[in-house]
Amino acid sequence: MSGAPTLIGLPYDASSSFLRGSAGAPPLIRAAIHSPAANGWAHGLRDVLGEGGLTDAGDLALPPAPEARALIEAGVAAVIGGGGRPIALGGDHSVTYPAVRGVSRSIAPLTILHIDAHADLYDVFDGDRHSHACPFARIMEEGLAVRLVQVGIRTMNRHQRGQADRFGVEVIDMAAWLAGTRPRTSGKVYLSIDLDGLDPAFAPGVSHQEPGGLATREVLSLIQELGGGLVGADVVEYNPDRDVGGMTATVAAKIVKEIAGRMMAEAG
Ligand code: MN
Ligand code: MN
Repeated sequence: MSGAPTLIGLPYDASSSFLRGSAGAPPLIRAAIHSPAANGWAHGLRDVLGEGGLTDAGDLALPPAPEARALIEAGVAAVIGGGGRPIALGGDHSVTYPAVRGVSRSIAPLTILHIDAHADLYDVFDGDRHSHACPFARIMEEGLAVRLVQVGIRTMNRHQRGQADRFGVEVIDMAAWLAGTRPRTSGKVYLSIDLDGLDPAFAPGVSHQEPGGLATREVLSLIQELGGGLVGADVVEYNPDRDVGGMTATVAAKIVKEIAGRMMAEAG
């Protein structure tokens, strides 16, 4: 894979089921990426903030309404059309469905690696088929991905288990993770990271804190060791209103830097 890792902010939280706030995330994650408290070097001697590193398409202007989805799809497609590889900053997790649509216009077949406490496979949630609890149901029923591999899940219920079976989703829940199961991806991979996949001890700034999750180190290693070529990514659900001392913004920034470093490594 080639193409400059390119930030695109998606300040949208109108499909959140519990708390708003994630629309305020992109500028805070960006500030943490550029914080003078850290340098821009990622694993493998990649200078993410140097030449050939991260570029920035800025934030999309998004209304808190369904029309946002078409704008997200077009914005992500435009990053790819301009020769970049998108790293989208959420926003709530509903942004992933239009973002993946934007990627899939020109890149297929896609494998999605999804890190989350939640499967986000509801057919409908609180009467909303585009809730942040539903994006992977929409993605799979539309055939936008040939494989969906989920890591970190620890809130599975019967409805979503049925959906996972229906769509052939490979679910590595926390019990399986602790037993040593790891994702094996190949081909063109899109990475979607819901920060609540991490344990709230590491990333408290999320709307749905769910104990018993991944360590920051485990997520960074997943990025570094991921099989296949990374064609795009999103980092979603940072809710600044719930953060403690900016810790979660710092974790999100570190994750973004590792994603960008990984993309740079693939570009050679
Ligand atoms: Mn989640
Ligand atoms: Mn999610």
